[in-house]
Amino acid sequence: MSSRPLKRVLVANRGEIAMRVIRAAEELGLDTVAVYSEADRDSGHVRLATEAVEIGPPPAQRSYLNADAIIDAAIASGCDAIHPGYGFLAENAAFAARCAAAGLRFVGPRPEAISLMGDKAAARETAASVGVPVVPGTAGGIGSVPEATEAAARLGFPLLIKASAGGGGRGIRIVDRPDELASRITAARNEARAAFGDDSLYLERYIPSARHVEVQVFGDGDGDGAVHLFERECSLQRRRQKLIEEALAPNLSPAVRASLHSAAVTLADAVAYEGAGTVEFLVDRATEEFFFIEMNTRIQVEHPVTEMICGLDLVREQFRQAGGLPLSFAQDDVKPRGAAIEMRINAEDPANGFMPCPGTIREFDLPAGPGVRTSTPMRTGSVVPPFYDSLIAKIIVWDVDRPAALARARRAMRELRIEGIKTTAPLIGDLLSRPEVVDGSYDTGFVERWLGT
Ligand code: ADP
Ligand code: ADP
Ligand code: MG
Repeated sequence: MSSRPLKRVLVANRGEIAMRVIRAAEELGLDTVAVYSEADRDSGHVRLATEAVEIGPPPAQRSYLNADAIIDAAIASGCDAIHPGYGFLAENAAFAARCAAAGLRFVGPRPEAISLMGDKAAARETAASVGVPVVPGTAGGIGSVPEATEAAARLGFPLLIKASAGGGGRGIRIVDRPDELASRITAARNEARAAFGDDSLYLERYIPSARHVEVQVFGDGDGDGAVHLFERECSLQRRRQKLIEEALAPNLSPAVRASLHSAAVTLADAVAYEGAGTVEFLVDRATEEFFFIEMNTRIQVEHPVTEMICGLDLVREQFRQAGGLPLSFAQDDVKPRGAAIEMRINAEDPANGFMPCPGTIREFDLPAGPGVRTSTPMRTGSVVPPFYDSLIAKIIVWDVDRPAALARARRAMRELRIEGIKTTAPLIGDLLSRPEVVDGSYDTGFVERWLGT
């Protein structure tokens, strides 16, 4: 591990996460360099950074995924580190290795750990090899359709086809019957090739009535082993993407919680994990039996709910570690307190299949007041470009317990005003009053059943 303190960091991302990372860096006294595409000249992350460099035209392939342009910008502006945020280059092992080769510290795990865990089929094998239960599925990728048909018959239906390189809910297809398999494989392959440049697929049994519960881990990378920062409940989803997340998970028995935490740490230790990561599980709602589904080798969208209940700044810890410092806390120092809820606001139309709705924001009023934290690059007059992820804002609340946090979340959503584009905000507001949300009995299918989609 490098023992050089960092001085100047390039943030290879946009939107709310770039701002989040810049804020942590500035508090540590680091200079920050933002990169932006032609579509983001007026964006919030450009305003916040010490310096900003335009790196290319709007399409991500030519800007935020343009590794050459980003590394050149880091060197030209005198940076010693690159923070990738989430999405884009965050789980790209080759990019992490290129940063190191160029003398730049990649703020994230080592490239080897990204390779081992970034490929979801490989990660399943690693998990199974250290005794962490995985969803029954194919051991590696699937080859020809006849091979897949045979594997599917063994697993039973319904099942999921998943892209090994997948993320953000993309490259996943549900298959209810054998005769649907071939066409869904083709569809998943095409989507995975277009989204990730890699069309490897694997099969997994579909777990109905599952909860998505994930464990935040932080690896020390110095042989002391990883720590966990408890769990997040992320079952309120549409199209296999999260809408609302909370910490801690409601209605989970203490024994199962402890087992999830220790399974996550076991897995992180199996790859000598360094830095922030998330181990995702499905938990059967009735039996509480749990299964590993994937590890995200990066900071996640929903990390603030963990920060709120633990009183920590995970991005600050990432920078400290990248500069050669140990974690500022030990496992026993961290006691979760109260309850936190994150509401993701996306520029999408829930009434129209959650279709993205880019456009100009005519009015933008954020909630404030006790226990409310917001993260957004938007303000009145901002343009949501059509080129990127539709997440435009996050509202995070904390309070002493879950009922109080829910009341505060509803109050914050009533204060939020966004005019000019369609967003998920009204739906999120409604969800917070649903009996299934209030009593914490929802599962990953709840939102879509409720909407009748
Ligand atoms: P989280 O659990 O952090 O929300 P998501 O899977 O929703 O994780 O992804 C967070 C962001 O990263 C989203 O903007 C998503 O579109 C993007 N993303 C996730 N995985 C990938 C990937 N493999 N390639 C490109 N973008 C990704
Ligand atoms: P991504 O890499 O896109 O985040 P995940 O493997 O984490 O993909 O799955 C995304 C979501 O899809 C989960 O949160 C869950 O709602 C659903 N899901 C994934 N695997 C299964 C499964 N085997 N059975 C039922 N639902 C699943
Ligand atoms: Mg996932």
